[in-house]
Amino acid sequence: MRHARGPLLRIDVGERTATSETIDDLLAEFVGGRGLNTRLAYERIPFDVDPLGPENRIYFSTGPMQYSKTSYTGRMAATAVSPLTNGLCSSNAGGFLSRNFTGAGYAAVEIVGESDDLLAIHVREADEDGTPNVTFEPVPDLAEAETSAVSTYLGEEHDLEPENVACVGPAGENEVRFASIMTSDTRAFGRGGLGAVLGSKGVKALTFAGDADAEIDIEWPADAGEVHREAATSDHIMKRQGTTSVTELANTVNALPSYYFSKQSFEGVEGISGDRVEEKKYKKGTCSQCAFACKLPTRDEETGLETEGPEFETVMAFGSNAGVDDIVDVMGANELCDELGMDTISCGDVVSMFLAAEDEFGNAELVHSLVEQIAYREAVGDKLAEGIHRTHEEFGVEDWTVKGLAFAGHDGRQLNGQGLSFATSNRGADHMYGEFYPFEYPLVGKEDALDPQGLDGKPPKLVVKENHNAVLDSAVICKFSRGTVTEDRLASLLDAEYDELLAMGSRVVELERAFNNARGFDRSDDTLPYEIDGFEDALSEYYEIRGWNEDGTVPGYEEADVPAVAGE
Ligand code: SF4
Repeated sequence: MRHARGPLLRIDVGERTATSETIDDLLAEFVGGRGLNTRLAYERIPFDVDPLGPENRIYFSTGPMQYSKTSYTGRMAATAVSPLTNGLCSSNAGGFLSRNFTGAGYAAVEIVGESDDLLAIHVREADEDGTPNVTFEPVPDLAEAETSAVSTYLGEEHDLEPENVACVGPAGENEVRFASIMTSDTRAFGRGGLGAVLGSKGVKALTFAGDADAEIDIEWPADAGEVHREAATSDHIMKRQGTTSVTELANTVNALPSYYFSKQSFEGVEGISGDRVEEKKYKKGTCSQCAFACKLPTRDEETGLETEGPEFETVMAFGSNAGVDDIVDVMGANELCDELGMDTISCGDVVSMFLAAEDEFGNAELVHSLVEQIAYREAVGDKLAEGIHRTHEEFGVEDWTVKGLAFAGHDGRQLNGQGLSFATSNRGADHMYGEFYPFEYPLVGKEDALDPQGLDGKPPKLVVKENHNAVLDSAVICKFSRGTVTEDRLASLLDAEYDELLAMGSRVVELERAFNNARGFDRSDDTLPYEIDGFEDALSEYYEIRGWNEDGTVPGYEEADVPAVAGE
């Protein structure tokens, strides 16, 4: 199997030390990205760790595909114990950081410890004898700096581009439980609050640069060129509207959460549709090397507001779910989240929760004010910064989360297989983990779409899809390559049999599950806030296919040295 190259760089921010070690055996087994991170986390993070304590570790890595010049590979993975879900969580960001990360020459970077000073950490290629080249720069003047201000500082003082940088905004420093790690100014390791983990360590920014990857010479199969050619010549609607191309379809089939999940369609959808986003798009946007270029740099001429996006999930969370029907208002919330460093899904959903409690749906001014209050933990924002799961009772509303993670769109009450995948996902109610929804939308020209209602026959398909996605996240390949990076091509790109890859993906999912079992997670966490006919039987079937216990645990996990669960 092709895999990422290079050693693991271990950075202790409390001791201000950097050491490296070879991890070739782990790379051969887990490829890179999420797989490698998960394996490292399983071995090195104590099961009882406090997610916001010094012993939590955050891993960054790429996969073998980042050495190619192929489309869909401008991404990388980050993994830590989430302060939002309390379980192990991998998050994935696009942009251009992945190429600079491979340039620094490491397969993975581990950050551990806690610094009293706010730090920027600069990672460069190691010396010829392998000695790491890492500098720790106190940056007190960047306290509570927004994303673009961090980029400006690093550009002026270090001649770096936003593409060299991963940083946190005020939300990460203030340990907002759904803070993101931002890169390339507008791209986010969004889900699971990994920005709060980095912020809790006193790390404001990490920078990566170098040319180490130039020495890596891989003879790529013809499929790599084919994938790139198809990405370039595709006329897919996502190249114009990104993920918002699904907004109206989701609304039509009753799968667009609205008014804090009290409805499944939104009468104001026209004002926040993909067409509205396309009207605001003023240039092409992409990730490193990617000819598909589905990103959405948008501008509103009237107000001068510029942002990148909003993507479909942001349109759902800050639009339909908040009762807001003007795309410019959604763009405003999107831009605030990027600058302040927060996941737009979790932030939009918790804001929508507050609007439900206060009967203030549609109040865009209040929405924007709440976003800022959350990032700085001011007024009611201090409570909302804890997320829906921890605060919903106080606000007298339902808990619309799975494992503490707020729901993405593609409503599982309509798309039942997607509903099951929200429940089984080790990181909670996220749409990209099992990514079942494409099977269930009645897409034009897609004769084999599944009946969205019911779960018959879906658990085996979900297991394969979760395993497949774990392979993509380990390789690291963008999931919007669907249809282009076929099973055969994936096998050829990674120089392996497809079944061998799926087995690797399965091991990744199982390691995540076992880690979370050790923290107290079981079947009672694989639940939904709504009923689906046949759900419990389908869940049992899912466990059986995976070879897990009926209670949702991995056999033998308890034989590990498992201390009590930390935190709540
Ligand atoms: S398909 Fe879109 S999100 Fe994926 S790598 Fe390409 S530009 Fe980035």
